[in-house]
Amino acid sequence: MITVKNLAKKYGDHFVLRDVTAHISQGEVISIIGPSGTGKSTFLRCLNLLEEPSGGSIVVDGEDVLAHNFSRPKLRQKMGMVFQAFHLYAHLTVLGNLTIGPVKLLGKSQQEAESTAMELLRTVGLSEKAQSFPDELSGGQKQRVAIARCLAMNPEIILFDEPTSALDPTMVSEVLSVIRLLAKDGMTMAIVTHEMDFARSVSTRVFYMDEGVIYEQGSPEEIFENPQREKTRAFIHRIRSLKETITSQDFDLFALHSHIERFCAKYTVEQRTVHNILLVVEEMITHLLLPLTSGEPHISLTVEYAEKQGEFRLLFDYGGAANNPLVSTDPDCLSLRLIKGMSKSSNYSFVQGVNQISLTV
Ligand code: ADP
Ligand code: MG
Repeated sequence: MITVKNLAKKYGDHFVLRDVTAHISQGEVISIIGPSGTGKSTFLRCLNLLEEPSGGSIVVDGEDVLAHNFSRPKLRQKMGMVFQAFHLYAHLTVLGNLTIGPVKLLGKSQQEAESTAMELLRTVGLSEKAQSFPDELSGGQKQRVAIARCLAMNPEIILFDEPTSALDPTMVSEVLSVIRLLAKDGMTMAIVTHEMDFARSVSTRVFYMDEGVIYEQGSPEEIFENPQREKTRAFIHRIRSLKETITSQDFDLFALHSHIERFCAKYTVEQRTVHNILLVVEEMITHLLLPLTSGEPHISLTVEYAEKQGEFRLLFDYGGAANNPLVSTDPDCLSLRLIKGMSKSSNYSFVQGVNQISLTV
């Protein structure tokens, strides 16, 4: 339905979109996620040509929309857009907001437009508000009207730009429910959102945008459960981390413990978990890793907290030849048994001269 190739957009010398390539098929629900300022809105606005792309191509239903003779009003009718700030006509009633487009742009009769409008208002649960003006409505109601107005133009795809970001938290779910309903009816949609649980449950695919590109894309399971790239992973798990380096056999274990305790204290975790982390770190460093190095050691420890899973990940990086003490040590070794007993999972890799052990606690 929509094929975007090498799309670029720059403001002055600043490239917001560097090279975006994507395909959206009919019936798909695409969630677009990513940090602020990474071009998510710009991407949507380029799709329906509210912004002029600086390069690349956009093909919609087989037609090159950037061609000189392509009708932009026709494109905007095909692609409805719902904005964070509703953009309703304040001087028109709810019904007026829904009928003006179909009457003026689609050439429908007033009567036909009103009957469709009333049906759409029932769909979004607002038929009682047909005669109200926008400023008599709550934020959630305004956004539902904006969605109904968009549907009144009979679009083939709807672009949503953070449709719930301007809402009071109590009103988010009424708007998300309407979007879910549209998804169930098979509407094709691209939704920029910070509502991760929603994105995860409603989407067929997720685009993670960063660095001016679609940095990673995949099914909700792939992106939310098992992101492949570091930035995606950091974003999804909102990982915050503590980094420590050990460069002496006589390193200060007490200082290390207190740094880890302070880091853990930022999150509401059980004291027992903190205790387990301290024990695993101590055993790993003093009994397994330091004995591997004869001279000056160089061990870096990263402690990451994944809020979503409520899990800590401990990463130990160290140099030297490939050596995994988790398997090479005597299986009766007490340290090893403690570490294995307290970790939910462990993984060893040796990449470009660096050993890495990753443990989750
Ligand atoms: P997002 O929606 O992911 O938060 P945007 O697409 O709104 O990001 O913006 C991406 C970048 O482009 C930001 O750095 C923003 O300041 C810049 N930008 C957006 N619109 C304009 C504009 N009209 N003129 C200049 N810079 C802009
Ligand atoms: Mg935005």
